[in-house]
Amino acid sequence: CGVLGIFSKTSRNLSRRVAFGLISLQHRGQESAGIAAYDEGKVRHYKEMGLVQDVFNNDILESLKGTISVGHVRYSTTGESHVSNAQPLVINYRGGSIALTHNGNLVNADKIRDELELSGSIFQTSIDTEVIANLIAKNYSLGFKESILKTVQQIKGAFALVIVCEGKLIGVRDPNGLRPLCIGKLPDGGLVLSSESCALDVVGAELVRDVKNGEMVIIDENGIESITYDDSKRVAHCIFEYVYFARPDSIIDGVSVSSSRRCAGKTLAKEHPVDADIVIAVPDSGIDAAIGFGQESGIPYGIGLIKNKYIGRTFIQPDQESRELAVRLKLNVLKENIKGKRVVVVDDSIVRGTTSRKIVDALKNAGATEVHMRVSSASVKYPCFFGIDTPNRKQLVGSSKSDEEVRELIGADSLGYISVKGLLESVGKTNCDMCTACFDGDYPMDVPEEVDKNMFE
Ligand code: 5GP
Ligand code: SF4
Ligand code: MG
Repeated sequence: CGVLGIFSKTSRNLSRRVAFGLISLQHRGQESAGIAAYDEGKVRHYKEMGLVQDVFNNDILESLKGTISVGHVRYSTTGESHVSNAQPLVINYRGGSIALTHNGNLVNADKIRDELELSGSIFQTSIDTEVIANLIAKNYSLGFKESILKTVQQIKGAFALVIVCEGKLIGVRDPNGLRPLCIGKLPDGGLVLSSESCALDVVGAELVRDVKNGEMVIIDENGIESITYDDSKRVAHCIFEYVYFARPDSIIDGVSVSSSRRCAGKTLAKEHPVDADIVIAVPDSGIDAAIGFGQESGIPYGIGLIKNKYIGRTFIQPDQESRELAVRLKLNVLKENIKGKRVVVVDDSIVRGTTSRKIVDALKNAGATEVHMRVSSASVKYPCFFGIDTPNRKQLVGSSKSDEEVRELIGADSLGYISVKGLLESVGKTNCDMCTACFDGDYPMDVPEEVDKNMFE
């Protein structure tokens, strides 16, 4: 998911900016979009299934005036794909209203939910985010600051939260810093919270810094108040943000996503060299790494696959059949660049193997004499419990098959993954700063047994 919030000192027309910012976070989720605006104590909101541009029009944005506005784009990792699960979640309590947006996944949501339900709380959605909203409401007699602090100390997992209440814009990042959240500054002195810095560029804000792991920031006309609510956990930023999820023009925790990918491509060329005539990328997420591979190996980089830009990321389609169809719709071979050539094809990851198999097949059909698959992440062997959609171990081809078996399955002449060490180096970090659990199973916290994403249905 993607979250965004703006606090302005001068404007009440923030929702249009939030909508623009959300469009630049659209890659983080395409199922539903929503915006809530805070105006003189009242919160108005609108959310619907679909892309930001389809959900919002001028009239709706006009009706969402306010000096604080928050927005969300969703793809489901818990809870079914239904509008009742869209965000922001707006809860009304005696003192006013809170709008809450969440990126990430909790690992103890079902336990807390059981306890809350036993003590009489009623849930209207099947998302773990409602557990957070309920806890805040329950603790509200303590005041907004204490109630949020108490809540974030009870929940476990991955969360980047952007909340509006009592005239404040609040950002919280989980104690491991798994999901990203950054702060930007507007020319009028207003402040912005965003999942990725690419949205700051769009709303006209300058990147100030990232929210730290275990930090809560409270933004109002006096600026930023920072509270460290938990400094006992190790930093574990999600390495998959750099590999695949984030946009290349974002800077996350001080590292440019694009340069980390290019660097990974160079390392990949060193770790798995091959003689070939052309290096191509699986667009879009493989492009930077393919350019890096070309630079390091001296093999010319060229275009071999054309992407249809008007359909979403394949993995966001919920079932296998539509996923397979979508691959064909999404990518087509530029035959004149491929025919008679030995091709290196660089992709960011192999998850189920479906895409890679179809791509190798298509390249061979187009006349490639050899197809060498190079992957700018290590083999994905373990599910993510923290908000990236790889929940089921059975679906992860790397968890049950050796690299040689995967090579055979996808039909490539050779297959090489970057090493975890090489990947960490390309991000300029070590495994003390990063979560690499989907490669090595080293989760930064206790995780549940395999969970069903519809466990609350
Ligand atoms: P596969 O070969 O595993 O079918 O697809 C790999 C490609 O699809 C990569 O380009 C990756 O960007 C994307 N992809 C497909 N499914 C998923 C998924 O469930 N999670 C992630 N992170 N990426 C996926
Ligand atoms: Fe990211 Fe993988 Fe860790 Fe999930 S398990 S947070 S995808 S590095
Ligand atoms: Mg890809």
